[in-house]
Amino acid sequence: MLINGDYSMNQEAHKFCEVMSRCYGENLRLQEIIPSLFESLLSDGIIKQAEVSKVITCKGCGLAHQVLRNKEKYYIQCTDEEFGGINEIKPEDSVTYKFDYAKFCGWVADSLKLEKEVTEEDSTIWHIGKGLIKKNETHLFVVFTTDFSVALSILEAIPKKNVIVLFLGKIPLLGHVDLRILSLQDILDVVDGKLEFLKKEFNKLTKGNYLSGPSGTIVLDTNIVITIKGDKHCLQLQKTPIGFTVEKDIFPMSYNILQNLFRFKDSEVLAFTSRELSNKGLARNAKTITTRILEINKLCEEKDLIPPIIQEDNYRYRLNPKLSCFK
Ligand SMILES: [Zn+2]
Repeated sequence: MLINGDYSMNQEAHKFCEVMSRCYGENLRLQEIIPSLFESLLSDGIIKQAEVSKVITCKGCGLAHQVLRNKEKYYIQCTDEEFGGINEIKPEDSVTYKFDYAKFCGWVADSLKLEKEVTEEDSTIWHIGKGLIKKNETHLFVVFTTDFSVALSILEAIPKKNVIVLFLGKIPLLGHVDLRILSLQDILDVVDGKLEFLKKEFNKLTKGNYLSGPSGTIVLDTNIVITIKGDKHCLQLQKTPIGFTVEKDIFPMSYNILQNLFRFKDSEVLAFTSRELSNKGLARNAKTITTRILEINKLCEEKDLIPPIIQEDNYRYRLNPKLSCFK
């Protein structure tokens, strides 16, 4: 769960977000694109009927034919020798739907108990209301894009002081710890075919602080992050500013060593022998600590990244001062 779309367990919510971004302003056969959610979104008004399409693909010959209407019935005229003639089609085969973006924004605002004020600021950018977040009056926006860099540039362009932008894509974790931008993929869930807003997750995310974010995520360097996903501990490495390239499972002990060194990085005593680290309860014997440290460094060095842990002259380990978390 959280921060990066990959953490969420809910694939249906991800799909919903992607479809919603892709279909902005378009009339489509949404019942085929999101069948599991279609009915409930239709009854909630988040999906509404757009129009009867004028042309549909013929099931007989595969060509597109004009839809003809006679009272409540719809027909197509096929010229194929075998299937030819006037064939009745089911209305649901020719009806398209679209998202009601204002309705969705209102639903998010209601879920967050905001003072609702839904306005389309610009194409795909919606102000949805304001509310108290961490005791500050905060304006919330929804941006219907999955592109993180677009959402970020919108956030930066909003002149208001306290702002949270919700967007539909995944947050590239590495190098990004600004909690004013959140992914709806992390705070939406689908339960029994109904879309649910995870208020608790939202609260958790907005309560996060700078370097140590939610889910035990610690940004050691713009290219090196450790995190917890469910019961897995991971090391994420990347070379480009956005989107990590490698993710490695690491031992919980490896995570705990880094977490401990990180916790003490600004204190007077920030270097420890492997014995001292094992005495903190991290391992039964000091030798294992050394092994884990060498493994962590090797994983990073294999990707041409700096080793996150260095050994001082007195055999004490500490975080590498070249890591961006020291800047
Ligand atoms: Zn035909």
